[in-house]
Amino acid sequence: MRAVVLDEDDTVGVKGASSRGICYAQKSLEIFERLGIYERIRAKGITWSVGRTFSGAEEVYTFNLQDDSASEQPPFVNLQQFYLEWFLVDRIMELDCTDLRWKSRVTKVDNDADAVVVEVETPAGRYALEAEWFIDATGANSRIREAMGLEVNPSRSTDRWCITDVRFTKPFPTQRWTWVDAPFNEGRAVWQHLMADDVWRLDYQMAEDCDPEAISKPEVAGERLRAQLGPDVDFEFVWIGPYQYRDHLLETFRVGRTLFIGDSAHVVSPFGARGGNNGIQDAANLGWKLALVLAGEAGDELLDSYHAERHPAAVENLTVCRRTARFLAPRSRAEHRIRRAVCTLAKRHEFARKLANTGRMAQANAYPPSRWAKDGARSVQNVAEGGTTLMRSLAGGTRFLGLAIGADAASLARLDELAALFPIDFRGIDASGPLARHLGAAAGTVVVVRPDAYVAATLVEATPEAVAAAMRDAVGADERARLAAVA
Ligand SMILES: Cc1cc2nc3c(=O)[nH]c(=O)nc-3n(C[C@H](O)[C@H](O)[C@H](O)COP(=O)(O)OP(=O)(O)OC[C@H]3O[C@@H](n4cnc5c(N)ncnc54)[C@H](O)[C@@H]3O)c2cc1C
Repeated sequence: MRAVVLDEDDTVGVKGASSRGICYAQKSLEIFERLGIYERIRAKGITWSVGRTFSGAEEVYTFNLQDDSASEQPPFVNLQQFYLEWFLVDRIMELDCTDLRWKSRVTKVDNDADAVVVEVETPAGRYALEAEWFIDATGANSRIREAMGLEVNPSRSTDRWCITDVRFTKPFPTQRWTWVDAPFNEGRAVWQHLMADDVWRLDYQMAEDCDPEAISKPEVAGERLRAQLGPDVDFEFVWIGPYQYRDHLLETFRVGRTLFIGDSAHVVSPFGARGGNNGIQDAANLGWKLALVLAGEAGDELLDSYHAERHPAAVENLTVCRRTARFLAPRSRAEHRIRRAVCTLAKRHEFARKLANTGRMAQANAYPPSRWAKDGARSVQNVAEGGTTLMRSLAGGTRFLGLAIGADAASLARLDELAALFPIDFRGIDASGPLARHLGAAAGTVVVVRPDAYVAATLVEATPEAVAAAMRDAVGADERARLAAVA
């Protein structure tokens, strides 16, 4: 689908800042595999799966996210956000169907019933652009959202942090280390992650009444590093910067012909890497729906399912991140006492380790039941089978995949006839293979997978009629019937 992307800036990443987002989760990496940039991300970034949590000088808890994964992609890759944005821009240019316009600020949006008129300001002057659909991806401080008078119910935390991006001469293990209450940081939290180019990202929790300018001075940041790693530690600074977080949630992700994605729609605290990863999942959820609507293969009501699925996902992320923020910055004596008890017990007892909350890492959210997915929709991992992977099979981006478990050639041929009526292709799957195992599906079943790698339906009675009914639901029954009648 042809699109115009307008960016008021002319660079990738945040101006002047080194790292912002760093941890990219498996679902995002699978989406990047489909988009054709995963290999570049893997080659440049740092793959990790082990996270270790400390309280005081003792380790309280370790996780290995690799343990139960069936995916071709690892649980996480760490990479500075500007690299990720750079690779995406390169790919957009390579695919050559998007008109990418830098130094183009959107100043006004008229969201009419038939079209959206966008006013654009550039160094060469102003102009108006008419579009069928408009996606606001202008981030946390979206002026477009504000101009539409939409409420986001923001809440700002008083918790303060300082990022120190640094290169050491001595190598560290490639693991995510976190301290709930580090003895070398006056009993406050610390994060430690390796990123690309041998740069370590250290996040130090600061006193709430600290002076952000003072804590970011190189000599002060150097003292913190020496307190942590000893007086002789050898390092060079890459970037230092303070931050304070806030969260917000837009009440509706669709207003007529305008759709809100990423930080414009929802912002969470950075614990658990749920911000950028969920913006990426928003885009994957919306992309195929918009493409089907533009191609005339679905009615525009399908776009309501974007809100129906991604809004509850944002609520879940907000809840999870708020809990972590409370664990890291307790607000009352009772919360302090509970945290102390959890950390003490976690050193000896398994049950308490689950309560030590230094960040519940981003996952693919399951979607609730809706008219488009009667039983809800759950994500499928990128399993490799038959010389390909699920994501490569979905690479076109707009067609569903009917995985016919243990199907013979005759039943596959019958199902194939549906490919002319609906955006779906079928593939026979080995009933004892890794994909059937991952899906938990027995021979004779057809699993209908959406272009964003979510299961739309699992049909044990896998007749072509049942698959057609599932497809009518997934793309919007009424609209499909109407479109068929028009055709
Ligand atoms: C300290 C920190 C750590 C984080 N760590 C992680 C992490 O590890 N993993 C993770 O997934 N996320 C992380 N995040 C969150 C992540 O950085 C954001 O969620 C993500 O950048 C949001 O992407 P976005 O595209 O929605 O918005 P943005 O990245 O803010 O992009 C907005 C874009 O819109 C453009 N723009 C703005 N206004 C206009 C206009 N009027 N007209 C035209 N263009 C406009 C801007 O130039 C910019 O390009 C972290 C954030 C912080 C602050």
